[in-house]
Amino acid sequence: MLDSTAARSDKERINLIKLAKRLRRGVGEAIQDYNMIEHGDRVLVCLSGGKDSYTMLDILRSLQQSAPVEFELFAVNLDQKQPGFPEHVLPDYLRSIGVPFEIIEQDTYSVVQRVVAEGKTTCSLCSRLRRGILYTYAHTHGFNKIALGHHRDDILETLLLNMFFGGSLKAMPPKLLSDDGRNVVIRPLAYCKEKDIERYAQAKAFPIIPCNLCGSQPNLQRQVVGDMLRDWDKRFPGRLETMFSALKNVAPSQLADTALFDFTSLGASSAPRRDWLVPARDAADTAEVPETPSASGSADAAVRYFRGVRIAQG
Ligand code: SF4
Repeated sequence: MLDSTAARSDKERINLIKLAKRLRRGVGEAIQDYNMIEHGDRVLVCLSGGKDSYTMLDILRSLQQSAPVEFELFAVNLDQKQPGFPEHVLPDYLRSIGVPFEIIEQDTYSVVQRVVAEGKTTCSLCSRLRRGILYTYAHTHGFNKIALGHHRDDILETLLLNMFFGGSLKAMPPKLLSDDGRNVVIRPLAYCKEKDIERYAQAKAFPIIPCNLCGSQPNLQRQVVGDMLRDWDKRFPGRLETMFSALKNVAPSQLADTALFDFTSLGASSAPRRDWLVPARDAADTAEVPETPSASGSADAAVRYFRGVRIAQG
């Protein structure tokens, strides 16, 4: 009995070592591929108290110890004043591991409750406010990089949501310049699978703060898409890896965006004329006129109108 328990804990230990190595490799590759961290960088690591941001900080710290370059890691958490937020959890943890930090206190919870209509999802406004506060903090305190804990599965979810509901082919980049140009945001977990992060956070017993304290309904569509991805992952192993590879292997000439690829010049001898192909839009564009019978009343010789253009048939 004792032997089998010892064997199991040995196996668990080995699995944890392998898992940590896999995560470190993923983070290392992402940092390298996107040149996320350089010598002298001051990195503001945003912690929410969830599994992703704890894992990100943990892996970044371990890479920092063996990195040939020097960079600073500083943790920050925004206490948004949700009822029941356990204020002591993050400070206790960060002190115990010796990471410098600051807890910013701003009551965005009340703002969101006041502004968003009852029954509507509050996450989008809440995240926007949080982002603004963290970006401003980074700028005023001289941090040149902001690290966020989004992982591979978040990126794929965003890709599908944008395709299904946003009409655009875009996801969440591993590195980006904020809209106001003041901050460089990095996502060191961009190559890491959520299920690895979940297992790692469990094994390391991070003091997770539940994310439903605000009482908000999670974004339903994101949840649906997340479930779909998890289901695919179970039924078709390797599919998510392939999908993520697709994000790194884009062929603009095989898509349809004329701003990304010059389709008009392909095989063309002169500049395209549009007047004979695309009639000017008018009110008739908005509705298709129903079939109009011909003068003889014969359906075979019907005349159709489409977007204001008369089309004879039969
Ligand atoms: S779950 Fe609550 S705290 Fe989290 S983003 Fe949504 S509204 Fe904000």
